[in-house]
Amino acid sequence: MDAQDIKQDLLTELLSENEIQARLKEIAGQIEKDYQGKDLLLVGVLKGAIMVVADLARAMSRHVEMDWMAVSSYGYGTTSSGVVRILKDLDQDIKDRNVLIVEDIVDSGLTLSWLQKNLISRGPTSVEVMALLRKPEALTVELEPKYIGFDIPNEFVVGYGLDYGEKYRNLRSVASLHPDVYSGD
Ligand code: 5GP
Repeated sequence: MDAQDIKQDLLTELLSENEIQARLKEIAGQIEKDYQGKDLLLVGVLKGAIMVVADLARAMSRHVEMDWMAVSSYGYGTTSSGVVRILKDLDQDIKDRNVLIVEDIVDSGLTLSWLQKNLISRGPTSVEVMALLRKPEALTVELEPKYIGFDIPNEFVVGYGLDYGEKYRNLRSVASLHPDVYSGD
């Protein structure tokens, strides 16, 4: 088999492409209702949320704008340290805008709660959060995403934008990665 083939890796599928797309359609419908008559700016958190933003936005029939931020928590491997640094800021002013932060996954929730506070300080009308995935630990922080795709077990997952060492983002499903693969961290 080709050494570049993802199927060879130690992956267990958690969410299929169909499950993800069906849930995104439901959430898109809910967002359309909630933001009826209002402007809406989706802020995608790079790079993990690119697939979520792309599919969520296309599941809506209303006008929607997109902007992107890149943040990095000072830390390595598979855990987050909570200290956040902006690598790429928004291109636009969000004063008086309705902002919906779109994130791939909330784990400890530290990154998102920092980001939410940071954006609120810029004077938008509203800042809400949509996260495709949420791990149990996230429940312990003061962060209430308005929209959640799926609650998942406390495992390291990849696919649908989520990476391990920049790999697996192009998987259409979400899968857990066998601990043997990253135990060297
Ligand atoms: P938090 O600050 O909520 O602990 O971590 C959020 C960030 O950590 C996510 O945006 C993501 O980049 C990364 N992360 C947390 N859990 C996972 C996971 O299971 N898989 C991958 N690939 N990244 C994760």
